[in-house]
Order: sequence, then C-alpha cells, then structure tokens
Amino acid sequence: MSSGARIVEIETLLLDVPTIRPHRLSMVTMSGQTMMVVRLRCSDEFSGLGEGTTIGGLAYGSESPESMKLTIDRYIAPLLMGADATRVGLAMDKVNTAVKGNHFAKCAVETALLDAQARRLGLPLSELLGGRRRDSLPVAWTLASGDTAKDIEEAQRMLETRRHKDFKLKIGRRPINEDVAHVAAVRKALPDFASVRVDVNMAWREREAANGIAALGDAGCVLVEQPVPGVEPLARLQAKAGIALMADEILTGPESALTAASKLAGDVFSIKIEQAGGLFSAAKVISVAEAADIAVYGGTMLEGPIGTIAAAQLFSGVRSLEWGTELFGPLLLTEELLTEPLVYADFELKVPTGPGLGIQLHEAAVNRFRRDRTSTSTTLKAVG
Ligand SMILES: [Mg+2]
Repeated sequence: MSSGARIVEIETLLLDVPTIRPHRLSMVTMSGQTMMVVRLRCSDEFSGLGEGTTIGGLAYGSESPESMKLTIDRYIAPLLMGADATRVGLAMDKVNTAVKGNHFAKCAVETALLDAQARRLGLPLSELLGGRRRDSLPVAWTLASGDTAKDIEEAQRMLETRRHKDFKLKIGRRPINEDVAHVAAVRKALPDFASVRVDVNMAWREREAANGIAALGDAGCVLVEQPVPGVEPLARLQAKAGIALMADEILTGPESALTAASKLAGDVFSIKIEQAGGLFSAAKVISVAEAADIAVYGGTMLEGPIGTIAAAQLFSGVRSLEWGTELFGPLLLTEELLTEPLVYADFELKVPTGPGLGIQLHEAAVNRFRRDRTSTSTTLKAVG
C-alpha cells in the first residue's frame, strides 16, 4: 500500500577524509579516502543516507566517487523526483531501466531509499533484508603498510586491544618468493588463534599462482583471495589448491555469481554491496553462494560508516559467516563522521539497533571535509 511519501530531494556530496596510514595494494597506494554521500529527503520528513566509495579512485573498478556523483545528479536523481519513496524496488526498477551499469552509484541511492523506508517503519534496516541473525560481526583487519615489521607490530596491537584476530595481507606487488616470505614471517609472529589470509587483487598469472598458493599454504596462510583475474583460471586453481580460494573482483552481481558458482570458481565469495549493485543484488549473490554451498564473506570497498553499516545490516542476517567480514573501512579514517561512533570490540563490529541504518552523520565533520555538493529537488504540487 502506498503511503503517499514522495522523494523530494536527492543531495550528493564528496567528502575527502584522510586515512591513518598509506594503504598499499597490488595496483595502488591509498593515502586518503573520498566518500560520495547521498542524502535523500522525502515529503513525509523521513530521510535516508547512502554511500559510494571506491578503492583508490579508479584503480579497482570503473566508477570513481566523482563519476558516481555525476551519474546520480544528472541521470538518477531527476528520474526519482516525485516517485513513491515507500516502493524501493519499483524506484530502483525505474533507475535500472534508464541507467545501465553504475553499480556503485545505484547502491548508494538504493541504500538511501532503504534507510528512509526502514526509518519510516521504525525498524533496523536488517529487518527489511530478511531479518537479523546476529547483533555483531567478526571483522578482519588488512595489513597493508608494505613493511613486514610494521605489519607484525600493527597485528600485535590489534590482538592486544582485542579489535581484530584475522588478518588479510595485501600482496602481489613484489616477486612471489618475497611475498611468501613476508606472509610466513607475519604468520610466525602471531598466536595460533589469529588467522592469516592474503589478497592478491588479480596480480598473478595462473602458472605462478599455482606455485604461490602451495607455498602460502605451507607458510600457514588459510585463504587466498582472487589470485588471478577471470572465472576459468580461478576454477582451475581451485581444483588443485590445498587451501581455500576466495572470489572477489569477478563477482559483479547475481549473474556473475551464478557463472562463478557453476564453474566452481571460489570456495568463498567476498560479497560487496557496491560491487553487486546494491543491497538487494548483494542478497541475491548471497543466495547463489548458499545454494552452491559456497561460503559467504562480508567484503568491503573500504566504505566509510554509511556503506559499512549498510553492509553490516545485510550480513547480520546471513545464515553462516564462517570467514567473517572485513568491514573495517571506518577504522582507516582519521576522523569521526558520526554523532555516535561505531563500536568495534572483542574482534567484532556491533550492528546498530536503531531505525534504518541506525546512524547519524556529524554535520560539523561533513562540513569540514566536504569538497562538492549538489542538490536535485522538486516542489510537489499535491502530495497524497
Ligand atoms: Mg579483494
């Protein structure tokens, strides 16, 4: 039943926020993060937040924060002015008909619509996504300083403060033997209850990857994320790997997940709400994984608090999360962007329990880091 609540304004802004340290990946070194924030306002006074963020500008995917902002301002926002804000699926159908691709931008808009709708209903967003099974999520930490001694020191600090016990090492930039030695040294320095995984971000060729995976297994690494590009090479590697392989970059929505699952490419799927094209699409990727008996892992695009909590609301309802999540994006930022900081404790992230996403932006912080702001709005002649 329609409530008569209409979309009256979609505002987009870019926030440039410094990070705690350079984050070195196989393809780029990040020294700051740009968040594209969506604020959607409705005629019944409810509003919602969404976020689009990338890993290193255009180094990871085909959308940048700037391109998402443009896509929303020019193509998506005008389409949605005056639309029924309570029919999120219908609104997104309209967007999907007129705008191809642009998964990250669509995810930000869909999140804002869902946040507003859940606030309107007085429920946490998790309850619109199938219901919550847990109130906190295990969160891995990524060691990406590029320096073995620094990474070990950082991991030990995380263990001491009980913030993280699972560590993902970003490798693929150096020769394989050096990377394996780095992983082995980190593994050796940490207690048994800690786990060490790696993400190669597709930097290896298939033949060297087979050797690299075997050597990593011998070094005590338990999981290798996206060692090579492509479904077929990953499937061939998985057939002979002694440790778990995770698919990440090849998963760009439900169709790609179905292809990967049917070819047995990946024992674990890293599911990212932006990459999937939004929360509804990510839920479908989760369903594909579950139907194929592939483990579900809560991936990140290093989003700030809005995108991170949107994903957390979804993963709180996943049946089994044996590999946990990596929803640590907000912890990479030097500044607090929320009125109430997120709670990371006992190796887990607490999923907010308030209506919608359950978070509020701190306006002073938003104003401090804002680069650019645009608003598309409409004046409704008759509401009801
Ligand atoms: Mg990855």
